[in-house]
Amino acid sequence: MSQLQFEKVAFIGLGLIGSSLARVIQAHALAKEVVASTRSEKTLSDAKALGLISQGYTNPIDAVQGADLVVLALPVRATQKVLETIKPYLTANCIITDVGSTKGNVVEAAKAVYGEALPAGFVPGHPIAGAEHTGVHAGKVDLFANHKVILTPLPTSSTWAVERLIQLWQAADAEVICMDVAKHDEVLAHTSHLPHLMAFNLVEQLANREDNLDIFRYAAGGFRDFSRIAASDPQMWHDIFFANKTAILKAVDGFEQQLAVIRKLIEDEDSQQLMGLLGHAQAARQHFNHMLAKKPLLENTQVTQQFTIQPGAKNFQGKFTVPGDKSVSHRSIMFGAIAEGTTHVTGFLEGEDALATLQAFRDMGVSIEGPKNGEVTIHGVGMHGLTAPKSALYMGNSGTSMRLLSGMLSAQAFDSVMTGDASLSKRPMERIAKPLRLMGAQIQSTGERGTPPISISGAQALKGIHYDLPMASAQVKSGILLAGLWAEGETSVTEPEPTRDHTERMLRAFGYEVKTEGNRISLQGGGKLVGTNIQVPSDISSAAFFMVGAAITENADVTLEAVGINPTRTGIIEILKQMGADITVQNERIAGGEPIADIRIQGTRTLKGIHIPEDQVPLAIDEFPALFIAAACAEGQTILTGAAELRVKESDRIQVMADGLTTMGIDCTPTEDGIIIQGKGQSGEWGAIFTGGEIESHHDHRIAMSFAMAGLRTSGEIKIVGTETVATSFPSFTQLANTAGLAIQVTE
Ligand code: NAP
Repeated sequence: MSQLQFEKVAFIGLGLIGSSLARVIQAHALAKEVVASTRSEKTLSDAKALGLISQGYTNPIDAVQGADLVVLALPVRATQKVLETIKPYLTANCIITDVGSTKGNVVEAAKAVYGEALPAGFVPGHPIAGAEHTGVHAGKVDLFANHKVILTPLPTSSTWAVERLIQLWQAADAEVICMDVAKHDEVLAHTSHLPHLMAFNLVEQLANREDNLDIFRYAAGGFRDFSRIAASDPQMWHDIFFANKTAILKAVDGFEQQLAVIRKLIEDEDSQQLMGLLGHAQAARQHFNHMLAKKPLLENTQVTQQFTIQPGAKNFQGKFTVPGDKSVSHRSIMFGAIAEGTTHVTGFLEGEDALATLQAFRDMGVSIEGPKNGEVTIHGVGMHGLTAPKSALYMGNSGTSMRLLSGMLSAQAFDSVMTGDASLSKRPMERIAKPLRLMGAQIQSTGERGTPPISISGAQALKGIHYDLPMASAQVKSGILLAGLWAEGETSVTEPEPTRDHTERMLRAFGYEVKTEGNRISLQGGGKLVGTNIQVPSDISSAAFFMVGAAITENADVTLEAVGINPTRTGIIEILKQMGADITVQNERIAGGEPIADIRIQGTRTLKGIHIPEDQVPLAIDEFPALFIAAACAEGQTILTGAAELRVKESDRIQVMADGLTTMGIDCTPTEDGIIIQGKGQSGEWGAIFTGGEIESHHDHRIAMSFAMAGLRTSGEIKIVGTETVATSFPSFTQLANTAGLAIQVTE
């Protein structure tokens, strides 16, 4: 603290804000001496009695002499007069700051006194914290804690002055942001001044009505919440509205325009557009908070979570419906948005990733209702109806959204930028950017490794290409095919191994012709999609954890209902069967273009290790973390090759699984494109395999859920750290797993 200590701090004005900062300075002993000047003697004597100052003066000249920090904490309109008065008495290296709610006029006032050569120590500031009450008694030592303080350093401001002020506000536990003066006034006009103006105005509108008493008497929570800030100091707000006139008038104009929009929607009873507007606003409020924090979209995933699983599970049984397929959920929104007419979706997975896709299309002007209990209604805008998003599209943690949207956005008339959370920001994007460039797209990834953010310049005429996929990736294939919808002529992709074909199937369900000839998939650009109904099948990737759980547990009997069994996704069934698991696929049927069935797995036979056939690898790519758990319980060695892709998923799934397995006493060797696992199981034996231990999931949902299943064969407690991301694909996981027979405890 000593480095930060000031010799003498002089407050000019010591009301709510000034006295709160004085409280911080006293609490942390940040100054040898604190003095103040106010108009009234009473304020000064009260401040002395409160222990905030040692001396008080009614003349500011007396206060500032010998001060190395002067804080102007008075109404902004008094700034010029005070500066004129104190100017001759300030020491050369004195830091002068203020706390005013507007900044342009404070700088103007200073220039009126000093001319352009403002003192090096002059750094305007604005704490974004306040209260309805004012005066020296209203101050609080924690008023600024966890609030933002904006400093607006000028070209004349010296670095040392800025740094010392940053330290001072940090001592108040505030988060300090430096910003340009004009930007400050524009931002505050929208986020603070306009809401206050609206609150005053609403209360005024209601107060002028004849039945005003009744209105106030019966005022509900909405009115109380909205009008709370109209109890603020009229003089202060009067000053602010004038001081920031230009920016506030702009904000009022914007408000009037938007008000006219919603007014018209109500007048016309345009239910679809009104729902779209309200849904967008509701989601945007939450979305922006998460975006700023680079956090997931769902509230309950903000905190870090862990699973603790006790040994001793006796059985694993039941009939379950696992959540909707993520891949199909994503595509239902994307295709519904660009289709003509309305698309109704049921079984939509309300997880992080699909919600990111949904929000992106709302941001591009698509009216979407829901999701509510898995139901979403999308009012398609047609192939040319998407509109430019106002700011960057935030994809959260969803690689699927970013890669598929890269294709769609490359073909739009507008520019766009896509960003993601910390984990997505490390994932490779050049694999999709490269082929799109061949089609004529202007697309830019970031840094040497070609990661997000991705910037796309619109209005490029795309041309169809033929592309040989260097890797088996359904996301890259889909991104290219989607760009191909707008491209001239034919776009085709040949894949080295068959990958998931949800895109092809769903495009067909939306009436778009897509040809599949062996490994070659093609479509002609320039067609259109027609809105339809989509039932999202249960996700086989989520079902996989329960399939593995049942396969490694004696006498287990689990049925997973209405699971999508798209042949490009059923590698898990085939591989488990080859390992000896007792699996039956029952009641096969078709829903929304996708084959579905009920899958029953019984713990009747112990598993044996195999060399996983490479042609099955792309068909089970997301299920390997779970399959590694099965392999550890099998008799003999399991070898996986040809799965380098696993290293660039949400985590390096080969390494992260190998680390966890080793912690739990399993002998395994990670290789460049796979792993060798020495199974500890013995034919006909169902005893414990894992020793227990603490597992780091690296916030990868599939790693977390896989190790949870190891709890069925563990001798010691298993702790899995970083499990909050399970909500991205399987929000009901612990509930269903515990119903089946596990004992997972969730702690934050
Ligand atoms: P406050 O509680 O009313 O205190 C104002 C102080 O300034 C009082 O000590 C007052 O002296 C003194 N003062 C008033 N007019 C003066 C004049 N013409 N010459 C000299 N001193 C004068 O106000 P506050 O809420 O602390 O606000 C102070 C500044 O902080 C304003 O610029 C405001 O824009 C800014 N701000 C306020 C909030 C908020 O929510 N209140 C939030 C952020 C920033 P007396 O004690 O003698 O009356």
